[in-house]
Amino acid sequence: MTDSEDNFQTNREKIGIMGGTFDPIHYGHLFAAEEARVALSLRRVIFVPSGNSPHKSYASMASAEDRYAMTAVAIENNRYFEISRIETDRTGTSYTSDTLRELARIHINADLFLITGLDAALDIPNWHKPHEILSLCTVVVVARPGYIRDKIRELDDIIQDSLLILDTDLIDISSTAIRRHVRTGECVRYMTPDPVWRYIVDKKLYSRTEA
Ligand code: NAP
Repeated sequence: MTDSEDNFQTNREKIGIMGGTFDPIHYGHLFAAEEARVALSLRRVIFVPSGNSPHKSYASMASAEDRYAMTAVAIENNRYFEISRIETDRTGTSYTSDTLRELARIHINADLFLITGLDAALDIPNWHKPHEILSLCTVVVVARPGYIRDKIRELDDIIQDSLLILDTDLIDISSTAIRRHVRTGECVRYMTPDPVWRYIVDKKLYSRTEA
């Protein structure tokens, strides 16, 4: 590598992209994003709440605007975390490949790292244009040590080779459990930041049975 090439490489910004339905966002998402940020020395992490998801629909699903608002208040105390309206504002189906293409165009001098959990990573072959996704970013899989490797081996070699696996402790919280707790009147206070549970209460989200 020449000096100028080396300089070019080191000047590139490393940006994490944390995509999610975030229905609602919780400490598991925040912890995973922060773990990835620190481990990979990412300059920042951009949270991208999904708009009209290709893979999710149920009766109690919060609107894209409510999920955006909850994500915005959840990240406000971390100066390395940002949020994007890219999928919230998009009409039609929110495909990750479209989002990454747009983010790569905006952040032309950056390398993008898409942060996902294990289940999401295993599902990538079923996403829209999976190979384009892999060409636009490094997919970072955050999961518990050990368990993940066996599962990842089920993916085809091209996908396996493009994943960056980050062994880490994770917080065992899910959006599904939070919605169930809300529906049954249980406390969700320590599962998600205070402004998020207050938003859920104020807006009376998740009271309907999921279908
Ligand atoms: P989500 O349920 O809100 O989760 C967001 C991410 O956080 C996922 O990668 C999830 O991994 C991870 N996560 C959840 N709980 C966690 C915990 N306790 N600790 C650590 N990580 C945790 O969002 P999602 O519905 O899975 O969607 C993820 C992304 O995939 C979104 O950006 C969505 O648009 C995209 N997607 C795109 C397509 C497509 O383009 N065709 C199809 C499907 C999904 P796990 O799944 O492992 O829990």
